[in-house]
Parts: sequence; C-alpha cells; structure tokens
Amino acid sequence: MISMENVSVAYNGSHKPALSNVSLFFEKGDFVCVLGKSGAGKSTLIRVLNGLQPVTHGEVVWNNKPISRMDEKAIREIRRETGMIFQQFNLIPRLTVYQNILTGRFGYKNTLQSLFGLFSADERKRALDLIDEVELNVEPSRKVEHLSGGQKQRVAIARALIQEPSVFLGDEPVASLDPGTAERIFKIMKKNHDERNLLTIINVHDVSLARKFATRIIALNQGEVVFDGSPEDFKEPD
Ligand code: ADP
Ligand code: ADP
Repeated sequence: MISMENVSVAYNGSHKPALSNVSLFFEKGDFVCVLGKSGAGKSTLIRVLNGLQPVTHGEVVWNNKPISRMDEKAIREIRRETGMIFQQFNLIPRLTVYQNILTGRFGYKNTLQSLFGLFSADERKRALDLIDEVELNVEPSRKVEHLSGGQKQRVAIARALIQEPSVFLGDEPVASLDPGTAERIFKIMKKNHDERNLLTIINVHDVSLARKFATRIIALNQGEVVFDGSPEDFKEPD
C-alpha cells in the first residue's frame, strides 16, 4: 500500500543524509516498529511516508501513485488517510479532551467556533466512544493540560482515529512515558490496529516493546536499513 523506492533525504547544511537509499514496502496489517539510535533517521522515515518531509531522491508511492506527482487534493487525501501521534502529544492544552478529539476531524478553527452546535449527534457520539476505546477514564470536559502523559497520549490516539485513517504513524509516541504506561499505550495501539486492520508504523527506542508488539521490525543505522524482518529473527547489534 505504501512503498519507498530508493529514498534519500538530505537536510540543508548536513553533509550526511538522514536517509540513504531506503527501499521498503508496507502492507495493510503490518504492525511495524522502527528501531535505531537517536539520529538514525527514524523520525525522517515516518515523516516522508505522508509527504510531511520531502525526499531528496527516490519516490514514496501510495497505492501506485507517487507523492511527487500528486496534486494538493490527493496529498490532502493521503494526510486524511494517515493518523499520526507524536512524542510531545501535540494537543491543544487549553481545550478539553472532547474538543481535542474533534479537532482531528474538523480542524482547530471549526472545533472552536462551533463547539457542540455544529457537530451531529453521530459525531459527538463517535468522539465519546473513542474515549472509551482508548480506555481514558476522564471527563470529556476536562482540559488536557491537567492530564498525565499517558492520558494525553490516549487523547492523541483518539484524535488520530476519529478521522478513520487506514495508516497509523507514531513518532516516538511512548518516549516520554514510564515503562508501565508505555506498555499500556502499545496495547491500545495494537488493539486498534487489529480491530481496524490498519497499517501501523511506530518509532520506538525500547527493543522489548518492539519484540512484544511488532509483526515486523525495521532497524535503521545512520540512515540505512540494517534489519527488516520478524521480531523472532531480530538480533540487537553489539
Ligand atoms: P531519529 O528519529 O532516529 O533520531 P532523525 O530522522 O530525527 O533521527 O534524524 C536523522 C538525522 O538527520 C540526524 O543526524 C539529525 O541530526 C538530522 N536531522 C533531522 N532533522 C533535521 C533538520 N530539520 N535539519 C537538519 N538536520 C536534521
Ligand atoms: P495512565 O495515564 O496511563 O493511567 P500515568 O502513569 O501517566 O498512567 O498516570 C497514572 C495516574 O497518575 C494518572 O491517571 C493521573 O491521575 C496521575 N498523574 C500522573 N502524572 C500526572 C501529572 N503530570 N499530572 C496530573 N496527574 C498525573
């Protein structure tokens, strides 16, 4: 469903490429964990997949269509197809849980202007159902600035899922959480992955989480793929 064909990314002012001639194919159903040291290129890899980061060489291809040949509308469509979460959550602190989730569907401005008014009963119910699905036991009217890290990441997952994506991307989503919370967040992501038959690709530092949850591990070192296979075959580099 998504392929990377000989993709290289070189940032301005950097002599070493962040990604170097990477070719990978991702299919629906894959739950991929991307491993590698800090600076290995994990975040760059995630961001090229939905066109957030332009490539220097090569192509990222969605359902046989190269991003480089897509018009604005097609690019908006693949962004909508992609739910993404981040290490720093990227929520809007002063808004409530409920409002933050709805921004995933309606954007910031519409959510603020309309609040309850504009959303249909279905849409409101969908946001409330998602709060249950991500096992978030807080009032929907609570401001997210008062939540713990684990709770914030649950809100971010719900915000990503409300747009009904087919691809779920995580850029170090558990890096700032304690190990127990990190594992609970992985369980929730895996459950949603299985129920919705997604393609999930997540950067993670912790090898044991990758071993436990991934169906496929990709390891990067200095912008190159040094391992691509099953968790059973993965051996940590010395
Ligand atoms: P990781 O997510 O594995 O830590 P990144 O993809 O963030 O790796 O970074 C890969 C390499 O690209 C690193 O050497 C990093 O310093 C460099 N890099 C990342 N983002 C930028 C940027 N915006 N400008 C210049 N260099 C960057
Ligand atoms: P989780 O959010 O997955 O339950 P955490 O370890 O992040 O796991 O938090 C456990 C509980 O501790 C939370 O439900 C919350 O009530 C409280 N908590 C943790 N960190 C904070 C924080 N920074 N601010 C407020 N409450 C917190």
